[in-house]
Amino acid sequence: MATPREGVSDELVELFAALDLPPPAPPHTGGLVSEDPSRGVALARLPLDTIERARAKVTAACDAFTRLRLEPGPARGELVRRMGNRLREHKDALARIVCAEVGKCIEEARGEVQEMIDICDFAVGLSRSLGGRTMLSERPGHRMFEQWLPLGPVLCISAFNFPVAVWSWNAAIALVCGDPVVWKPSLKAPLCALATHQLLQPVLADAGLGDALQLVIGPDDPVTTALVDDPRLPLVSATGSCAMGRAVAPRVAARLGRSLLELGGNNAIIVDATADLELAARAIVFGAAGTAGQRCTTTRRLFVERTVAGALTERLVAAYRQLQGRVGDPRDPETLVGPLIDGAACARFAATIEEIRAHGGELLAGGELLDRPGYFVQPTLARVPDARDFPPIDTETFAPILYIKRFDDGAIESAIEWNNRVEQGLSSALFSDSVRAVERFWSPAGSDCGIANVNLGTSGAEIGGAFGGEKATGGGREAGSDAWKAYMRRQTCTVNGSRALPLAQGIRWD
Ligand code: NAD
Repeated sequence: MATPREGVSDELVELFAALDLPPPAPPHTGGLVSEDPSRGVALARLPLDTIERARAKVTAACDAFTRLRLEPGPARGELVRRMGNRLREHKDALARIVCAEVGKCIEEARGEVQEMIDICDFAVGLSRSLGGRTMLSERPGHRMFEQWLPLGPVLCISAFNFPVAVWSWNAAIALVCGDPVVWKPSLKAPLCALATHQLLQPVLADAGLGDALQLVIGPDDPVTTALVDDPRLPLVSATGSCAMGRAVAPRVAARLGRSLLELGGNNAIIVDATADLELAARAIVFGAAGTAGQRCTTTRRLFVERTVAGALTERLVAAYRQLQGRVGDPRDPETLVGPLIDGAACARFAATIEEIRAHGGELLAGGELLDRPGYFVQPTLARVPDARDFPPIDTETFAPILYIKRFDDGAIESAIEWNNRVEQGLSSALFSDSVRAVERFWSPAGSDCGIANVNLGTSGAEIGGAFGGEKATGGGREAGSDAWKAYMRRQTCTVNGSRALPLAQGIRWD
């Protein structure tokens, strides 16, 4: 439990000043405590929105929609271009807030803000290239085409681990599509959201569209659920755990709304006997221990062909030994692994370590909580017994725990089957120099995940591709490629340029 404080920390006053913003005003009573997980102290207390206030923000977003949808696409792109420039100017200060509030190492926090800038650039390009198809009509003198129109205000629910980037994937694309965004951030990262929201407000206000981005900081029950149930929000884009998706999706479905779900992952890397082990080891360590194992795409399971299992395990054990000395203050550029988000996450790590032991797993590295302020744990490697089921491997424990399991020589199909055995289907990777193995991995009987990489790890996606996963990961796609389609409504239009009225399918009705 963080030491509570009434005002805001000196560090925060300095960081908000670097963003040209006043520090968040402490409320007189109550409010939400924002905590620094690397020190276990409160950073600030923030006021919480009530249901009435949240609904009023939806009303304001609906009002902004009536104007935003009539702006030409390239003008909406210009708005997003200016948002991207403002983020460029303040990249470092915003990254330092991400680092302070969620404990993401400063280098990765800068990468998170860079991702916001990248998606703005991508969306600007989209704003001049969004288009529909023209189809050949079977009726003489007719023309048929489809057009894509703005959908309406989008509710964006975000998770703590990408406290600003995932919102920006939604916001940049939604805005060029003509949709305002109501953002409900994680209650574990409200300051990141507040800073981002306030930083970008002047850009929108200059364009007379200040209400097009709304921020609601409120408890899941009843405030978020009231937003989820609100029919004025035609799309709910929700990022978080599978449990959250199971709570949110049926509510949206009950009002026949549209959901875009980005949920949990239990991602695997397969390494076969032909793989470059040095390359694989580097990707595995970053994928498993980077962001302290708190990425949806974190590598949690490793399946290695028996002939090379010993050599690869040796490299990994040596790398993890070095890594233990690089766990610490995320503000220090030498640190590679920061803290977990809170005490509950540490408790889940400790419970999983107990389970690993109870099921006969062998801890090859790590396994301990660190005795220091904040929420630190050791990056952990666990060898899974060959011959029996091992329940901990089927669960996404949001911490740096990597399971290693061997598969028989030549039996890549069993590794692919293990990859697919879990309920989630987010990210997967194969390290191999064998064309046959790669083709098998990508075949219809191959990886069932939304992301399938070869000779690179499971995490660290670029914004140009559509991001998301199958099965319990929710099936949603965000960011690049044609993910924009989720934020628009499609209209099929036919125009009759002739003086006759032929019917489709040759039907006569004279
Ligand atoms: P979480 O599910 O606890 O919370 C995510 C968001 O949902 C928060 O804003 C939270 O307030 C809200 N929420 C939670 N339960 C809710 C409910 N019943 N009704 C309405 N809102 C609710 O997740 P977290 O701990 O913040 O993030 C970690 C999880 O998110 C992991 O499972 C991770 O894999 C997943 N994640 C997925 C992606 C992806 O793109 N697939 C990206 C980031 C994180």
